[in-house]
Formats: sequence, C-alpha cells, structure tokens
Amino acid sequence: MPDPRSSRGSLAVVGIGPAGLLDMTQRAHQAILHSDVVIGYQAFLDRVPELLSGKEIISSSMGDERERALISLERAAGGSRVALLSGGDPGIYGMASPIVEELIAYGDEPLAFDVTIIPGVTASTASGSLLGSPLAQDHGVISLSDRFVPWSVISQRLHALMVADLVVVIYEPSSRHRPENMKKAHAVIQEHRGPETPVAIVKDAYRETQSVIFTSVGRLLDHQYDMRTTVIIGSSETVQSGRWMSTPRFHSKLKEE
Ligand code: SAH
Repeated sequence: MPDPRSSRGSLAVVGIGPAGLLDMTQRAHQAILHSDVVIGYQAFLDRVPELLSGKEIISSSMGDERERALISLERAAGGSRVALLSGGDPGIYGMASPIVEELIAYGDEPLAFDVTIIPGVTASTASGSLLGSPLAQDHGVISLSDRFVPWSVISQRLHALMVADLVVVIYEPSSRHRPENMKKAHAVIQEHRGPETPVAIVKDAYRETQSVIFTSVGRLLDHQYDMRTTVIIGSSETVQSGRWMSTPRFHSKLKEE
C-alpha cells in the first residue's frame, strides 16, 4: 500500500476481488484511496466508483497489459502514487506478472519508488464459497487461455492434474477467440473422470448477474462458457447434493481406518 506520508512515488498493484467493494480487502481499499492515479481496465474502474473521486483515471483496453504496466511504472517513477487495478488476485493470471517481469529485467539498482502487490479474493475461492467446500482437499488451477501458453502444454498440464485426481479449477474456459477450448479440455477430462463426476459452473461470482450451475463431466458440453465463468471439476471424492458441492476432508474415503 502506498504510504500516504511519503513524497516518493509508489505503485500498488491492487487485487480488487471478484466483484465490488464488499469483496475487497481493507488493504486494497486503502491503497486505492491513498493513490492519486488509478489505472485499470474500464470494467474494473466501474466496480469501485466510490474510491475514484478527485483522482486521475487512466482506463485502457483488456489486451494492453504490458502497456498498462509500463504506464504505471513510468507514472510511479515520476512521483505519482499509482494504484493499478487487477481483478481477483493480481498474482493469479493478473497484473503482478507484467510488473514484476519488468522490475526483474530492470535489474538490482534501487528503485526511486515503492512497489507493493496487494492480494485479493481470487475466482477459485470466490466460486468455491458459493458452492460449499469443493476445494477442501488438494486442488489445481489451470487457465485454458492459449494467449501465453501453447495448447499442447495446457493439455499436458490438464492431463497431469487429472491423473493426480485433484479437484481442478478452470479459469478462462472460453472466449470469442477461443470457443473450442472447453471442447478440447473435455476430451482430456473424460478420459480420466467418470461421467457422473460433479462439475460446477460459476459465472459472475458476487456480481448482480451471478449464476451457479451444477452439472457433471458427462454433460460438460451441454453448457455455455465465457470469460466471466469459472468451472470446478470434482475429483473422485467430490460429491454434490442440493445446493452443496463438497470434497470431504473430515470424512474422506481415503482416510486410513
Ligand atoms: N486475477 C483473476 C483472474 C484473471 S483471469 C483472479 O484472481 O480471479 C480471468 C478469469 O477469472 C475469468 O475468465 C474467469 O474464469 C475468472 N473470474 C474472474 N472473476 C470471476 C467471477 N466474478 N466469477 C467467475 N469467474 C471469474
């Protein structure tokens, strides 16, 4: 969080959680309040209008992560207290990565400004909380976006998660540019998990448009997926009953008698 008493510039990469102010930490809240420049994708700025008054706002389009990172670093170097907004947690498929990559490339010379990464509630835990306790045992997180990682690698990683019988949380299941990815993922998933294995599809967690759908591996392709959706694939231990999905920890079948 930027120190409000400091005359130095600062950069806070702020995880704003899955939705609005209620789902944000106090630290994130304070970091935005104490900034003078707020940078972010317009949809993120729209979620925190209460915190933006009197601030310089720099809005940019979704694909411009690196550009946004460079502007943020430049403004902080120029003496501004910058809050760079990132959805969910900035360290999980978020803005911490382009910032830290730039800082590492910059080398060991001391920076003229402070940099902090402020954690946020990520889509996996936000979605998990709406379902009950699907993530109570070990689980893996994977993005189906092949923007930075080739599909062959994504497919291998998904395969490994399936072999390990981990509950799997899928981020970025599909987009306009990649509508086929869930279909390709399903081909891998159904090799390892039975058709009755519980699956949950959570869209817009904690937003007004929130929806939760319970389905199964066998029916995975009967549904629509987009970039506002997180998919949780159960392990061999996961059960679904009524409004709950659970991967039991206390009554695990794996427990030795
Ligand atoms: N840094 C973010 C993830 C960025 S990748 C985080 O920690 O949550 C974007 C993906 O996150 C989306 O494609 C979707 O899979 C998931 N996501 C983000 N917000 C979500 C929400 N409110 N409900 C469901 N999924 C969400």
